[in-house]
Amino acid sequence: MAPRDEISASKPVKVVSKTNLNNGGSEYCSSEASGTQHSRSPKTSPHDKDTGSIKPSSSSSNGTKRSVSLSRPTETSTSLTQQSLSEAPKSAPSTGSGKSSKKKSKKGLLANIAGTRYECVRESLEHCGFATIRDERDDPNCLLYWSDLAVPNERISEMKPYQKINHFPGMGEICRKDALAKNMMKIQKIFPSDYDFVPKTWTMPQDANTFLNYAKESSKKRKKTKTFIAKPSNGAMGNGIRLFRSAEKAPLDENYIVQEYLDKPMLIEGFKFDMRVYVLVTSCDPLKVFLFKDGLVRISTKTYVAPSEQNIDELYMHLTNYSVNKFSANYEKDEDESKGSKRNFEFLNEWLANGSYDVQKVWREIADVIVKTLIVAEPHLIHQYRMCRPGVSPLADSTCFEILGFDIFLDRKGKPWLLEINRSPSFGTNEKIDLNIKSALLQQTFKLLRVRASDKKRCLTNQKMESQRRLFNGHRRLAIEQWDKSKAAKVRKKEQLQIQLAALRRESMRQEYESKNLGKFRKIFPIDDRMQLEKYIGILSKGFDILLAGRAGQLQKEVISNYKNPHHEADLLDLIEQCECEEGGDMSTFNSGYRKPLVPKPLSSMPSSASPMRHYSRKGGGTEEDNSSDESDEDDDNSDATDNNDTNRNDTTITSHDMKSHGFHRNSETNSSLIEKKSINKRPKQSSQLSKSRKVERPTLISRSSTRSLSSLRFESNRSLPPSKRKKDDSDLIQLYEALSELNIKFPGKSDEEANEILNSILDNWRYHKPRVASYWLVKLDSVKRQKVVDIVRNNVRSIVQRFHENEDIDKLNVTKCLNKVFNRMLWSHGQGLWSCLNHTTRGPAPWETVFRSGGEMLSNVEMGCCKIAVELCKDCLLVVYQFANQSRTELNLGAHSVSSANPGNSAVT
Ligand code: ADP
Repeated sequence: MAPRDEISASKPVKVVSKTNLNNGGSEYCSSEASGTQHSRSPKTSPHDKDTGSIKPSSSSSNGTKRSVSLSRPTETSTSLTQQSLSEAPKSAPSTGSGKSSKKKSKKGLLANIAGTRYECVRESLEHCGFATIRDERDDPNCLLYWSDLAVPNERISEMKPYQKINHFPGMGEICRKDALAKNMMKIQKIFPSDYDFVPKTWTMPQDANTFLNYAKESSKKRKKTKTFIAKPSNGAMGNGIRLFRSAEKAPLDENYIVQEYLDKPMLIEGFKFDMRVYVLVTSCDPLKVFLFKDGLVRISTKTYVAPSEQNIDELYMHLTNYSVNKFSANYEKDEDESKGSKRNFEFLNEWLANGSYDVQKVWREIADVIVKTLIVAEPHLIHQYRMCRPGVSPLADSTCFEILGFDIFLDRKGKPWLLEINRSPSFGTNEKIDLNIKSALLQQTFKLLRVRASDKKRCLTNQKMESQRRLFNGHRRLAIEQWDKSKAAKVRKKEQLQIQLAALRRESMRQEYESKNLGKFRKIFPIDDRMQLEKYIGILSKGFDILLAGRAGQLQKEVISNYKNPHHEADLLDLIEQCECEEGGDMSTFNSGYRKPLVPKPLSSMPSSASPMRHYSRKGGGTEEDNSSDESDEDDDNSDATDNNDTNRNDTTITSHDMKSHGFHRNSETNSSLIEKKSINKRPKQSSQLSKSRKVERPTLISRSSTRSLSSLRFESNRSLPPSKRKKDDSDLIQLYEALSELNIKFPGKSDEEANEILNSILDNWRYHKPRVASYWLVKLDSVKRQKVVDIVRNNVRSIVQRFHENEDIDKLNVTKCLNKVFNRMLWSHGQGLWSCLNHTTRGPAPWETVFRSGGEMLSNVEMGCCKIAVELCKDCLLVVYQFANQSRTELNLGAHSVSSANPGNSAVT
């Protein structure tokens, strides 16, 4: 059932019309600025009927002694005409005819604005590349819907996963005055000092007695008479508001809230004011909140005097609504945003600073008020959102977003108080200041939301893949379950982890985008300040109990645990790896088509080599290196790719798209790899000595950093194995180590010597390159591309391990597990893992070695040596990719298609 605050708009989004507003309740009214946006017929408006509203006249400012409400039917209708001149859309909102006014969008973005009357919304959308239509029918091509009114939950349920709408279900819990009062009262009982920013409030008629008792008690205690303000529970724009000083005048039997009147406001030039603070919520699951740094300061039009029986009806003195004050003869419109009755926050900040207020502190407290208020809404939001979008994929973007208008009052001490929250703030722009602030707010919102034309296609593809995966996994699980129940559980666990990993990577990409496109927004939840965040989470956790009365225990557990223990990429990778190891060879019969359903696409990164990769025979013993001609090398390379090296081919091929995005040139070769494999004989007849292999000078960073000295390694040998097996395994490992040490990172179009020079020159000029490499690796590349860089090394190393263990499941080998850990560590913390290795100059253990310390693994020194090589290759690989990307940008026709043959001096393994 739709909550009571979301009952009006019908599918897809009702156009705002007088009828809607008159019937639908005023929570659908946009508020803040233009009272002229919505008229309410005195006959049908419950508020007007209840209060018998009268029109304030100039006499009121001269001291009319009556408590009045603020509806002014005649004036409203007059100004509505004026308003329509400046506000009404050029093409009137659709009335359901289905007529569309579609204009072409260059970007292929389409927004449905049938639900809004604001030109500013349309213009901002079009400014951001959207074509707009006014059509009440559902259009599957529409990516964004805008409605001035709240929308029913059913409407949100109907949204396609790639569509967005500007309201959340459940937001009425803080946007209706009575609901806000009820929820705040509950939370204040548990957290009184945290929620002391809402004036004491009673909801009529149920709190009538409590209110009367309070009024009686306080008049006994204090000599001064208290002033109260009564507002219609579902009111807006100052309608029906009255001030009173004696409890008997309270609207005890009506749907009103009564509040203590804050009688010591901060004044600007002697006038009371309030702030319209705009807040963007982009998601509720999890909660994400952005504060817009600009907004409106709305100043009243009659000099403020503390409330008394004489001035209690002076609406231009006590209320700051634009919709009230615009009728005052003293209302000032000014082109200058630091003058007039509406001003911007730049003015306010300057004014606060001049008045010796701590501006930072004021804003910190305002952000705190906003976050705490949204925390009160969050259990409702998340609960209703999940009900509307059951089974929504964790990979999906939020269907809802919302721009809220927080009305904040500053008292004389600079303390912010929450007056109310508008879920449909006005986007009327009849003053220049409105246009400037609101169009910037809207445009930056659309940018931050990152709606893309490809969203629909991507989403449909994902859905298809997901359902295929489910179908496939369902069959597979069934088969496994029949075979072994515990295995099936493991498979499920791994699937879950893979989904989490994909969601995490998507989220980190989203965050990266957001941080680059904040504009005037500031992210206020979640925040980096761990202590503060924990405090908010503590409140949220309790909030679930008291606001949902324990109705959603499971949801609470899940949400809080996600906030408290956010997943880290490295942990998930480790867990997946663990699952894979546990799965082991037993699963081989079930593995086809199962692997890597969700891991990012394999690396695309470097162009392939026109020149050959060295022959690298699969069959043991007699493999010989063929340096005689490039042609034969090429043949070898290809056959290697097609016959033996599927993993390599699949996982290191560059797509032209990725190449372009890296600034790489297109290349037709498929089996390209950054890794140059020297001829490696599997199990050569003569066993070589490690020291020998170390003597071979490798023209790469690896030799430069001389990390392959096994003597420096202090790790356990394979002691857990029986001596005979240990010996054999050790010698296998040594050969593997030697094979790995023959790997070089190729630089497209360069010989090994040239590549070496390039890399040396990067290291020689490290001070220059360091920030550039950091920004390339940590900022420019997103997590998927970072993964691809590491995968170049990972896949090549893996293929070599496989060659040495032809008929074995290499995932079961200790060395593979260790190597996997190392590769995962390279990607750890958004690439910090590899970056800290590259940046590690001090003596002592390298940063990546801690992956083994914590797990208490037993590594033989050769295994450790293999890991070191892997790390060095990753470092080389990053530098080459970085340099290549740089170079490609500057030299468009770099001869990247020819790669030198391997340095003969390095190629042989003796
Ligand atoms: P509406 O939604 O009808 O605008 P508000 O709660 O925003 O109702 O109140 C309208 C105006 O009344 C505010 O802008 C503010 O100036 C004044 N006001 C409201 N509540 C209080 C209060 N508790 N103390 C002092 N002034 C108040």
